[in-house]
Amino acid sequence: MQEREKGPPVRRMAELIKSGATMLSENCPDCKVPLFRLKGEVFCPNCGRRVLLVRSEEEVAGAAATVALTGVEETIMARITGLNERLRTETDPEELQRLGSLLSMWLDILGKVRSLKAGPGRTGTAAP
Ligand SMILES: [Zn+2]
Repeated sequence: MQEREKGPPVRRMAELIKSGATMLSENCPDCKVPLFRLKGEVFCPNCGRRVLLVRSEEEVAGAAATVALTGVEETIMARITGLNERLRTETDPEELQRLGSLLSMWLDILGKVRSLKAGPGRTGTAAP
């Protein structure tokens, strides 16, 4: 007698949930049954095999973008610090105006970088 069922092994899944496993939003790449996580291990209740959860390409790209943006942010912060030093000692009004608009530009970019880092859904209220 074959016990193989078509569709998700509902009984098995119910048992897993009872034993403390978490049903994930990701599906098994082979049988499309929802994956479960138990004690840090992700597996398919249908195939009974462990699945290595690879984050979506979007998430990987997002993480890379955050790293890149942090680099940009550091550069801008260094620029702003340098500008601040010059603003403190500069006496020529024209130069001060030039430095001021530079500072304004860097602050503008910094704001954009930070809102990009915060990602969608977290725009609007700026964290202190
Ligand atoms: Zn499977």
